[in-house]
Amino acid sequence: MNCPNCRRDIADYSNFCYFCGTRQNVAPAGCAQVQKRLLRSAVDSKIAGVCGGIAEYFGVDSTIVRLLWIVAAICPPFPAVIAYLVGWIIIPLAPPPVAAPPQPAHTEAPNSAQTA
Ligand SMILES: [Zn+2]
Repeated sequence: MNCPNCRRDIADYSNFCYFCGTRQNVAPAGCAQVQKRLLRSAVDSKIAGVCGGIAEYFGVDSTIVRLLWIVAAICPPFPAVIAYLVGWIIIPLAPPPVAAPPQPAHTEAPNSAQTA
């Protein structure tokens, strides 16, 4: 599908545009509604993309998720490190972003002004 903001091609089930960060909540033609999936982020990751994927799923800043996760890891009652490892194993990885279309090679047009 195409991002409505920057018009670049991104994966059909992306929650956010890889290029401009715009949230993708527009259902493609023919689909009633895109099902939201929890995926590890391929582009917003520090270790395995678990926090980035959770942030994309809930539409929040991934830094906030990482901060909360670290705080939870420091506080003994919640085994955040184990939860991260479990998330790493059970949450599928999002496909890598589609490469940007290659920019046309800068070639001199026949009638372009020549620089001396
Ligand atoms: Zn975009």
